[in-house]
Amino acid sequence: MYNSRNSSRTSSKIRIGDTEAFVLSSDDSEVENFETKYISNYLNTNDKGPSSGNVAHPQSSSRIVKRGNRGKLEGMLKLPLDLELEIYSYLEPLDLLRLSRTSKDLRVFLMSRSNAIVWRAARSNVPDLPPLPSDLSEPEYANLVFASYCHMCMRRPCETVIWQCRVRCCNRCFDSTFYSRSNLHSVWKRSYASTFIVFKAAAEYIPCVKVAPWKGPWNGEDKVFFPPNVRTLRHKYRLVRKGEMGQEEWVAQQKQLYEEIMEHTAACSDWQKANNDKRAEELQITRSKRKSLIYNKLQALGWGDEIDRLDAEGSTLLSTHKFVRQAKDLTDKAWTGIQPQLVKLLEESQQRRL
Ligand SMILES: [Zn+2]
Repeated sequence: MYNSRNSSRTSSKIRIGDTEAFVLSSDDSEVENFETKYISNYLNTNDKGPSSGNVAHPQSSSRIVKRGNRGKLEGMLKLPLDLELEIYSYLEPLDLLRLSRTSKDLRVFLMSRSNAIVWRAARSNVPDLPPLPSDLSEPEYANLVFASYCHMCMRRPCETVIWQCRVRCCNRCFDSTFYSRSNLHSVWKRSYASTFIVFKAAAEYIPCVKVAPWKGPWNGEDKVFFPPNVRTLRHKYRLVRKGEMGQEEWVAQQKQLYEEIMEHTAACSDWQKANNDKRAEELQITRSKRKSLIYNKLQALGWGDEIDRLDAEGSTLLSTHKFVRQAKDLTDKAWTGIQPQLVKLLEESQQRRL
């Protein structure tokens, strides 16, 4: 099962028919209410993807959910592989995520580790995107970077990506999702002792978010943690507990991974900011073009003098009107729709002056 909200952040492999698939580790046998809530919430909100070994192989005749044109996408899997890969090479990771949610067969195909090349090609179509980090699978990374909903409540849009914790989380969900070190006790009553041991061994290498200690429900602590990150680390610590790895070696390994994650986090934040700046600039250009076009059209209708008078008075009556300020190209059809109301606005302005 691919689920960005799963309790564990590490990918592992399972076999689905003949397909080795991206899944998240599920071999921690503890049943945690916290994760169970998240997983069931995710499954209820999203498609029911292959969550067990009983899903069909891509070439099988499993049922395709046909809604609108969705069923037609099934045809992609009947194309010769090289042609299919050629089509995928023009897509971006978000397209693949969406495709994977259109049918079970496409999902199995895209979640197959042997088809990771498809995701790599899609990533290469995104300028300057930092490379895939070692702690995430391709679909996990795509979901973190491009699926613009909160991973907790599924509301869109959610632009707050907490890169180091590998989660998108809106302000509304933050307080109830992130726990201070001492509050983790309330998440894992039975296994808090092992959580405590992990903190004792590698506290400074657990991804966290710094918060104002006087705010939120965190007992005055200034660092908060995403429980699934802690759970993953706790799971990894079993190697030490079982004597399969020395504690020093284990801590060194966590330190290295933590440093990689933090470096990647910085690269992703820079990339996101540059993208947002570029997007804001593009929207501004579109707004300006639309405004010029509308002004030209109104001037052609004889409203040039009234527009000049409004400008001279510093009035924003027209320039900030909702039909003018939109960051949307102006089509002939759209102009036909908004023209009467803008003309009426100028008529009323002129009458007030008389
Ligand atoms: Zn939320």
